[in-house]
Amino acid sequence: MPIIIVPKEGPAYPTACGGILRDLRNRPSAEFRGRSVYFCRWACLRAYEKDPLRFMSGQIPHPLEEIPDAPNEI
Ligand SMILES: [Zn+2]
Repeated sequence: MPIIIVPKEGPAYPTACGGILRDLRNRPSAEFRGRSVYFCRWACLRAYEKDPLRFMSGQIPHPLEEIPDAPNEI
């Protein structure tokens, strides 16, 4: 289980990968079983898209590469 550090102040949104986002603007998201889930970056969303079930159950390692924000690639 990843360790989740919840900020003391302000809004905090958990990501599908076990992190916390303060601001959802420009963050990739997807729908999983009727709920919106958020990702820390696009590489993270790509990993989810390849195999959503395994990603959500923590069986896929978190991607380490950084890719630029690129909503137009979806
Ligand atoms: Zn992530």
